[in-house]
Amino acid sequence: MVGDALLLTPRDALVIVDVQNDFLDHGNLAVPNGDEVIPVLNRAIALFAHRSLPIYATRDWHPVDHCSFKTQGGIWPPHCIAQSKGAEFAATLNLPPAAIVVSKATTQGKDAYSGFEGTRLASQLHSQNVERLFIGGLATDYCVLNTVKDALANGFKVALLIDAIRPVNLKAGDGEAAIDEMTGLGAEPVRLSDVEA
Ligand SMILES: [Zn+2]
Repeated sequence: MVGDALLLTPRDALVIVDVQNDFLDHGNLAVPNGDEVIPVLNRAIALFAHRSLPIYATRDWHPVDHCSFKTQGGIWPPHCIAQSKGAEFAATLNLPPAAIVVSKATTQGKDAYSGFEGTRLASQLHSQNVERLFIGGLATDYCVLNTVKDALANGFKVALLIDAIRPVNLKAGDGEAAIDEMTGLGAEPVRLSDVEA
């Protein structure tokens, strides 16, 4: 469980999920307290960059008429429209130039909560000999949940950065249920302070 020190290895990578303006305070689809993940993820970025370990950042990158939008019969307000301010990564997120950006749900008719869905993420990770992913970002009960599930399904070990995720909680308890589901499937919950470089 949480509390044991965790050593980074050359087979680790960091995956930052959807830390984009529209999911942050004042965004079109603001996740409550979503901004709180940024300082923790910045410390994670520093740890991984110091070891020259791969850093990935996923993002929603939707067309203006994306099927997930309420205007198109979906359940979300319009958000993360490609090239818009809302789709940009948080200005305070210290993504290094070497970070690999993974754009998802880029076509009108298909949504993708997982960073693996319709992207090259799995093959990119395999080509870098990555075995374990440290995953944090937004939101716990949607894109983090589905990215973690696909990571495990693709054979990666997962360390879930539980102090670097926040839920939407459309229904009360969704976030806790998502954490239970992820850990039940084998994701290891860790706090960044337990990770040693
Ligand atoms: Zn979206």
